[in-house]
Amino acid sequence: MEWRERASCQAEDPDLFFPVGNIGSGPTLIQTDEAKAVCRRCPVREQCLAWALDAGPMDGIWGGTTEQERQAMTRRPVPASPGRVTP
Ligand code: SF4
Repeated sequence: MEWRERASCQAEDPDLFFPVGNIGSGPTLIQTDEAKAVCRRCPVREQCLAWALDAGPMDGIWGGTTEQERQAMTRRPVPASPGRVTP
């Protein structure tokens, strides 16, 4: 994963991306916005997001997305059952 060497977040406080001290409530909106601002100017954002989506559920901001946003991106529609008539 050599893309990590070019990550903009390397020069930032990790607590911005993985907040501590607020277990159970997740990152604050301000922390999330600040982390996403760093991601928007990151040259490896696409690689980071693809890696995070492949890795599955994970805490923190990756590729400019929250865990909940990544979950929404990977949700697939439930296929109709074979015996069911659909309009
Ligand atoms: S997209 Fe965000 S979390 Fe991913 S490497 Fe870049 S700055 Fe870090």
